[in-house]
Amino acid sequence: MSKKTVLITGGSKGIGSACAELFASKGYRIVLNYFSSEKQAADLAFRLSRQGADVLPFKADVSDFEQVKQMVEAGERRFGAIDVLVSNAGISEQKLFTDISPEDWRRMMAVTVDAAFYCCRAVLPGMLSRKKGKIVLVSSIWGMVGASCEVHYSAAKAALIGLTKSLAKELGPSNINVNCVAPGIIDTDMNSHLSAEDLEDLKQQTPLRRLGTPQQVAETVFFLASEKSDFITGQVISPNGGFVI
Ligand code: NAP
Repeated sequence: MSKKTVLITGGSKGIGSACAELFASKGYRIVLNYFSSEKQAADLAFRLSRQGADVLPFKADVSDFEQVKQMVEAGERRFGAIDVLVSNAGISEQKLFTDISPEDWRRMMAVTVDAAFYCCRAVLPGMLSRKKGKIVLVSSIWGMVGASCEVHYSAAKAALIGLTKSLAKELGPSNINVNCVAPGIIDTDMNSHLSAEDLEDLKQQTPLRRLGTPQQVAETVFFLASEKSDFITGQVISPNGGFVI
């Protein structure tokens, strides 16, 4: 069987880099997107290449459609096709709603919602022509239940759930699966601003009494990209330790 290619946005760190490791270990070729963490992306690409993986690191701001299109074109040129899209890049910001500026709001929507739209738009012509493809969007539990002091983040992540469900209906007849992974509290840089006390509090609010690991989220993403989930589309799967049930 010929090798498949996955495009992972935000592959330089955290959940995206754990996805890159897992997909590489399963024989996938990888378009590894990063934006500001060039060294981390280069180090990861080097390490995976040493292990035999075919990796194309690509710097692109996912909130810019031209850059996203160039990245997808580069991936298709190098590997022939993008079989799987993992739209994972994201930012977080904690602010009272009354402190969120129009610029904060726009940036959150751009990096989260616009980016997912741009990535789907860019990979879909190829997937539609092959009548095959898997799209996984990374949302959050806060997109399911809402978070105080993260209204723009929660609203943007909720939009990804709506995008998943509607796009899955539209693309089902073309044999393209669209699903969403909505992680709970995961041990990555995104939570590095939290104090030890806050982290302990979040663990206590989680029935399994621990944070999730990026690798555990990557396993869920990989399942939704694999043939084992061929009859699953339009779903939100939430690795969250029971935080949201
Ligand atoms: P992270 O370690 O902070 O990684 C974020 C990634 O997004 C980085 O690779 C970063 O790339 C990339 N990124 C940010 N802005 C970008 C842009 N404009 N263009 C391209 N890439 C961009 O965070 P993480 O925890 O792994 O988060 C990954 C995803 O999971 C996010 O969508 C996040 O919202 C979601 N999530 C995380 C948690 C959690 O508790 N950690 C929970 C639920 C959902 P550079 O550093 O190269 O710029």
